[in-house]
Amino acid sequence: MSATKIIHSIPSDPLTGAISVPVYQTSTFIQEAPGVNKGFDYARSNNPTRKVLEDVVAQLEGGHSAFAFATGLAAIDAVLKLLSAGDEIIAVDDIYGGAYRLFTHVYEKLGIKVHYVDTTDASNIANKISSNTKLVWIESPTNPTLKVSDIQTIAIIAKSVGALLVVDNTFASPIAQQPLKLGADIIIHSGTKYIGGHSDLVAGLVITKSELLSEKLKFIQNASGGILGPWDCFLTIRGIETLELRYKKQCENAFAVAAFLSNHEAVQEVHFPGLITHKNHDIAKRQQNGLFGGIVSFALKEDTQEAANQFVTSTSYFKLAESLGGVKSLLCHPAQMTHASIPRERRLRSGIKDSLIRLSCGIEHTEDLINDLNQAFAIGFKLKETSYAKE
Ligand SMILES: *Cc1c(COP(=O)(O)O)cnc(C)c1O
Repeated sequence: MSATKIIHSIPSDPLTGAISVPVYQTSTFIQEAPGVNKGFDYARSNNPTRKVLEDVVAQLEGGHSAFAFATGLAAIDAVLKLLSAGDEIIAVDDIYGGAYRLFTHVYEKLGIKVHYVDTTDASNIANKISSNTKLVWIESPTNPTLKVSDIQTIAIIAKSVGALLVVDNTFASPIAQQPLKLGADIIIHSGTKYIGGHSDLVAGLVITKSELLSEKLKFIQNASGGILGPWDCFLTIRGIETLELRYKKQCENAFAVAAFLSNHEAVQEVHFPGLITHKNHDIAKRQQNGLFGGIVSFALKEDTQEAANQFVTSTSYFKLAESLGGVKSLLCHPAQMTHASIPRERRLRSGIKDSLIRLSCGIEHTEDLINDLNQAFAIGFKLKETSYAKE
């Protein structure tokens, strides 16, 4: 969706003409007679500010409906409630740490079995899938090693047994990737990241392809109640107004950063779908609209936590923090931060080396970000600053 369409999909207030969406900070709505209302009765069930956000997000992803939740994990949780004991999930082995924790420590206990496979090769899913498989759960690109899976091919495999394909589209954002058009049934987003985009809220979104799934999700959203409050809905709508502008700049910055790191003598390997050396670069190019995202991760030649600690405490524009996708650049050390709850063996298997560092590029000037990384190497590794920064 173009910036023009996105901006103009956000309605002005029909009651007053206010150009921005009002925050309906209310718990209930007056009824003319029992059951006779203006489409709203209680704020868990619906709220006019949330309705605008949900309608805008449904359009953004080309879905039938969208549902806003308190966090990305609450959105994931709502989708899992479609399942019953005995059902099975096939999930990407590089899955978001919080989703892994939820699947393993909450849902496995309730009788849902999860098989983790390397989905970058779709045949691994075909080999594991059975009539018990009810969900195939992928992220593309993944966090933090930016692995890319072929959504279109995986959708065909999921359909062959009647399983739903869920895509966590947080990293690609609706600007780069539209999973429903590629055959997925459900999309989830951590709205905390690119969609909100300013590191000032936590939010989650579920987008459904069919009316039937919309009815089920609407029921779960109201029954479980993990909705997004009106103020955070307002902030998310405000974030969406600049989503395309921000995301494109973040992609541009990440591209330059990945090129810089690829040529750096202290760097062992760089993960970025835009590099031709990336395993599924061709798939990324095709399914991500030529946009490779704002995240880059890399491992140091000196592959230790100590070396990583030295680096992540030596930058000035890249702030050391969890999360990603905001206008301000961030960096983190997954092994000690976002992925600390995953056992080291599992981490190493999915490519999260001890020194792996994840960068979330913001919208600062490209040269400033490169210079920042360059000086961090110079401080930590007693290296001369490379010529790149001086050009
Ligand atoms: C952050 C994140 C989540 C969880 O979202 P929260 O808003 O933190 O609950 C899920 N998936 C991905 C890919 C994420 O980056």
